[in-house]
Amino acid sequence: MVADRVTASEEETQAVARELSATLRAGDVLLVSGDLGAGKTTFVRGLAEGLGINPREVSSPTFTLVHEYRGDGLTLYHADLYRLESAATDDLGLQEIGVKDGVLAIEWPDRLTHELPGAMLVRLDVVGDASRRITIGPAEAGPHDRM
Ligand code: ADP
Ligand code: MG
Repeated sequence: MVADRVTASEEETQAVARELSATLRAGDVLLVSGDLGAGKTTFVRGLAEGLGINPREVSSPTFTLVHEYRGDGLTLYHADLYRLESAATDDLGLQEIGVKDGVLAIEWPDRLTHELPGAMLVRLDVVGDASRRITIGPAEAGPHDRM
């Protein structure tokens, strides 16, 4: 799914995520990027809902770097790399996770040191108190050109 939307509430952002979730297949990787408070975790909650997972289960992974939620069909893997040094992401095995039985959503993907081939970029930009611009498309650029 390729999209460029402006949402006016958390609920609208989750609706865009639910729409995207309907197009996802096992092995898909989403790089969910944007500043603190842009709505990355909110977006992942919308993905969860679309996959048949209680969105309230989705929190910001703190000590656990990757959370796993069993959906109706696909499993949702949710990683938040905020607290990581770039170098530490080498050892996470994210490449292997994404290709199993589910989809992998990564917050703060600029921390990644490796390209994840075929990944999709979901970019959230704050454009007002309650408005966010959401751009979804292929993540062609390298991790260091991305932000
Ligand atoms: P991040 O994970 O990017 O740090 P969160 O999803 O945790 O951000 O938080 C986003 C915050 O912005 C929430 O408090 C949410 O209620 C608020 N918000 C306001 N408007 C929107 C919107 N249109 N879309 C998403 N979140 C919004
Ligand atoms: Mg977050």
